[in-house]
Amino acid sequence: LVLLCCAVAAAEGTLKYKDPKQPLGARIRDLMNRMTLQEKIGQMVQIERSVATPEVMKKYFIGSVLSGGGSVPSEKATPETWVNMVNEIQKASLSTRLGIPMIYGIDAVHGHNNVYGATIFPHNVGLGVTRDPNLLKRIGAATALEVRATGIPYAFAPCIAVCRDPRWGRCYESYSEDYRIVKQMTEIIPGLQGDLPTKRKGVPFVGGKTKVAACAKHFVGDGGTVRGIDENNTVIDSKGLFGIHMPGYYNAVNKGVATIMVSYSAWNGLRMHANKELVTGFLKNKLKFRGFVISDWQGIDRITTPPHLNYSYSVYAGISAGIDMIMVPYNYTEFIDEINSQIQKKLIPLSRIDDAVKRILRVKFTMGLFEEPLADLSFANQLGSKEHRELAREAVRKSLVLLKNGKTGAKPLLPLPKKTGKILVAGTHADNLGYQCGGWTITWQGLNGNDHTVGTTILAAVKNTVAPTTQVVYNQNPDANFVKSGKFDYAIVVVGEPPYAEMFGDTTNLTISAPGPSTIGNVCGSVKCVVVVVSGRPVVIQPYVSTIDALVAAWLPGTEGQGVADALFGDYGFTGKLARTWFKSVKQLPMNVGDLHYDPLYPFGFGLTTKPYKM
Ligand code: BGC
Repeated sequence: LVLLCCAVAAAEGTLKYKDPKQPLGARIRDLMNRMTLQEKIGQMVQIERSVATPEVMKKYFIGSVLSGGGSVPSEKATPETWVNMVNEIQKASLSTRLGIPMIYGIDAVHGHNNVYGATIFPHNVGLGVTRDPNLLKRIGAATALEVRATGIPYAFAPCIAVCRDPRWGRCYESYSEDYRIVKQMTEIIPGLQGDLPTKRKGVPFVGGKTKVAACAKHFVGDGGTVRGIDENNTVIDSKGLFGIHMPGYYNAVNKGVATIMVSYSAWNGLRMHANKELVTGFLKNKLKFRGFVISDWQGIDRITTPPHLNYSYSVYAGISAGIDMIMVPYNYTEFIDEINSQIQKKLIPLSRIDDAVKRILRVKFTMGLFEEPLADLSFANQLGSKEHRELAREAVRKSLVLLKNGKTGAKPLLPLPKKTGKILVAGTHADNLGYQCGGWTITWQGLNGNDHTVGTTILAAVKNTVAPTTQVVYNQNPDANFVKSGKFDYAIVVVGEPPYAEMFGDTTNLTISAPGPSTIGNVCGSVKCVVVVVSGRPVVIQPYVSTIDALVAAWLPGTEGQGVADALFGDYGFTGKLARTWFKSVKQLPMNVGDLHYDPLYPFGFGLTTKPYKM
């Protein structure tokens, strides 16, 4: 019957799987029936763009390509360059026997952050402060459009880690230490993908060309590792894992998330990439997640310590656990040879391969990739658009937390007057777009300076905001004499952490980078000052608090520094509440809201408010 139907369809000129009027299940079945084993295996392989030549795509039937952290076609590449690059790879896939489109993925984790000129939104640590799901949804929608502007249909976001220890270098990718806030923030998923048209749980949904497939990551417990060491072991009982780290995934799956990425970390000693009970037993069988599960970058290699110690075992364990797409990302022949040999030896059953391919095809069909595999430039003007920058600016305003406003008994310092004689702006982070954006911006580890993308630094924003008669003096690290003799009315000191990503951000001291502390001392000792902290997490601040008049946590605000000035100068009020506990000393860590011994400098939920001057 199957043969007959296909023969008829073919005779009519349309293959069933290519016919969008056919039901999804029928299209998947039809295509699967036509595929060879090598074509199926190819679907499971994701390679890096730098090795994705047309020859490789065709020879191995590669199913997916990615830009690994900051991998771009050229420096300051335009949407046109991106679209051409993605289309060239896609054309190779379309020219294969069955013409199955590849899916291109990228880390758009705070806006389309690899791309020059894109709107860079605050990192998740700031967005959690807003507790505003609707804002997250709008950010998701804007991000999807900017990603589509470059011809890309798939974003490795959101990270729904529940960071339980700020010593972790990825804490800024987490919305909160509290799973309830993380759950709320999963509303970014319908923003990225579109609203689910049905109530069918677990079915992936991506609403066409203005939307992208999302990826909830990293499943599961990534934010709970011992001492916050990246990719380490999460030691917690089932109640803790399911009560703290899992709830975000319930929401993600219910909202139709298309893909889920597995975590490098282990749970009680077992690498998540090898955890069949959780990946297959829980996620696929219990939660009924029907999208595809993707490995992390060389994630199966890291099942062993050191990585790649026993690749045969890694491939076996990873595929058996239920991973569908493997982010290989370079040694694709090694992976393909290995999986072939294990299929031959019947170590990996064909049913497992079919499960993986079915899921990958389901996502590709659902999102309309077969109908419109090639991108054009119709969304190019979305990249860094005025509307998106306005939205990011709103997000910045709402992500700020006012921790102190006026010394004991003194008048509040904020909002600052716009019209005054002379003010000082100081600090390493006052005029540095790279620092303001943090890691995962243009390059994996982030950047230092203002030339790498387009945006407004906090210094520029202050200058935009004050009255024309107010004199703004900028000195990155003034000495006390300079401050005293300058006779400033007040000062704005912007200090914090340099950018970092993943394990490069792991630290035990959590200090403000030098010369920040001495800048605070030199300035705040002599003139009324507000200190703005630009950091991916709470940092050591207690030793300086008594000298500071006002203190603002700005997290990693991104390109729209204007949002900081909006609140400092009272065009908008401060509204943000801490979504993380601010510790007194690193000796207290880990310390989270609800802990028995909870003695923070500023507790979870804390945040002063100001009224705007006029609204
Ligand atoms: C990170 C992921 C990311 C992937 C692809 C990995 O190092 O852990 O979060 O999606 O790289 O760039």
